[in-house]
Amino acid sequence: MLLYPSQSIKIYNSLSGQKETLKPINAGHIGMYVCGPTVYSNVHLGNVRTFMSFDVIFRYLKHLGYKVRYVRNITDAGHLENDADTGEDRIAKKARIEEIEPMEVVQRYTVDFHNILNAFNFLPPSIEPTATGHIIEQIELIKNIVDNGFAYVVNGSVYFDVHKFNETNDYGKLSKRKLEDLIHNTRELDGQSDKKNPQDFALWKRAEPQHIMRWPSPWSDGFPGWHLECTAMSTKYLGEHFDIHGGGMDLKFPHHECEIAQSEAAKGQTPVNYWMHANMLIMNGKKMAKSTGNYILPGEIFTGENPHISKSYLPSVARFFMLQAHYRSILDFTDDGLLASEKGFNRLMDALSILNDLKASNTSSVAIGAWKQKCYDAMNDDFNSPILIAQLFEAVKYIHQIKEGKASISSEDLNLLKETMNIFIFDVLGLENSSGTAAGSDKLAGAIDVLIKIRQEARANKDFALSDKIRDELAEIGIQLKDGKDGTTFSLN
Ligand code: AMP
Ligand code: ZN
Repeated sequence: MLLYPSQSIKIYNSLSGQKETLKPINAGHIGMYVCGPTVYSNVHLGNVRTFMSFDVIFRYLKHLGYKVRYVRNITDAGHLENDADTGEDRIAKKARIEEIEPMEVVQRYTVDFHNILNAFNFLPPSIEPTATGHIIEQIELIKNIVDNGFAYVVNGSVYFDVHKFNETNDYGKLSKRKLEDLIHNTRELDGQSDKKNPQDFALWKRAEPQHIMRWPSPWSDGFPGWHLECTAMSTKYLGEHFDIHGGGMDLKFPHHECEIAQSEAAKGQTPVNYWMHANMLIMNGKKMAKSTGNYILPGEIFTGENPHISKSYLPSVARFFMLQAHYRSILDFTDDGLLASEKGFNRLMDALSILNDLKASNTSSVAIGAWKQKCYDAMNDDFNSPILIAQLFEAVKYIHQIKEGKASISSEDLNLLKETMNIFIFDVLGLENSSGTAAGSDKLAGAIDVLIKIRQEARANKDFALSDKIRDELAEIGIQLKDGKDGTTFSLN
């Protein structure tokens, strides 16, 4: 049962190049697959941005009452650098450099990935399958593709025959490429390759003797091609035809194009209704990427230890910064941008605490019902978080006007305003109050109240040394106590 059946979502579908109304395959249910990280190094903030875009989409769909099965994989099978045909695999390379086992590399960076996403208050996906846990499914898929005549075996490796596929299907339909152009733009094979054509891609590679991550298969001891795992795992958990597939823009070609080809070749039907691509986080005018050294790690944002930033920032401030851009827009990472977001975020949090103390009147001079629908309209329009945030600041204006007596609000509207602000700020955007989660901040307030009571008792006993100590030490960590005629209150810096 949808909680909000009247809300109809439009999604920009990379496949059609248009915004389309979301019509789930099974009413009330959504299957969503997002390509996960390759766990060979720490995730950088660019990776986080893409996953955050889909975290917000997941949150909004859930808020509307959809039963969402969100699958995000972990790429832990070693693939060759740049998906090349020869060379070293990225996980094995790291294992060699760090003198540990490949699976220790995988474990280390999977844990790092989870820690970072937790710090940013991500919801865990419904299923997080690993590539190495689905080798059997990948082998079965290759068998299907070979049986259907769309792949060929050479020297223990299996390649997808792009030219054969394109005779009956449309290779390039997602990335808007034509096979003729691809042929024109690629160099001829150098005679060393097993492939029939340079556009063909590996489904299975025979492992060289030094290659550590290897599995037995009908063709050789080897390892799966990179594109295969996502087709195998999305099919296993979401079926041969599911609703949404997402990932970063840079995965559209060849990765997602090859996923479509593999599914169509194996199962005879196109796998996905809505292809969604998140745009890149850039820094110094270039894509943030590990390989070029042009990146910033989330941990550096939290400590401020990076030359690109002037200070540390809360995870929620970084989250707010990223959600102030639409997921399909390029976002430029700058310290000025973060500083501005910090101001905006604090203004929003301040408005929330004012909201808690607002008094209702008999009538409303502000149209809260219409404002609430505008919040939904923003998210319904291809998950437009910046427009939603602009609407939240409209509410901040109302809150100040009501506080200053320049506007009035009925108790019914006041409750609606509180509820809607909480839904969009915490449930949908996934922001957290400055002092942690909303629940965390309640606990913090409770703990400070306990200290205020102890201080009152100390003063009553004329133990001014203790009462000053409590006040000064709290001040040192940014908690100010204020003694007024109605007792002591506190504020957080
Ligand atoms: P990878 O581990 O390299 O496969 O990347 C994991 C995810 O992060 C993929 O969906 C990429 O598209 C995405 N990604 C990589 N670099 C960036 C960037 N600079 N901005 C946004 N997303 C990125
Ligand atoms: Zn993938």
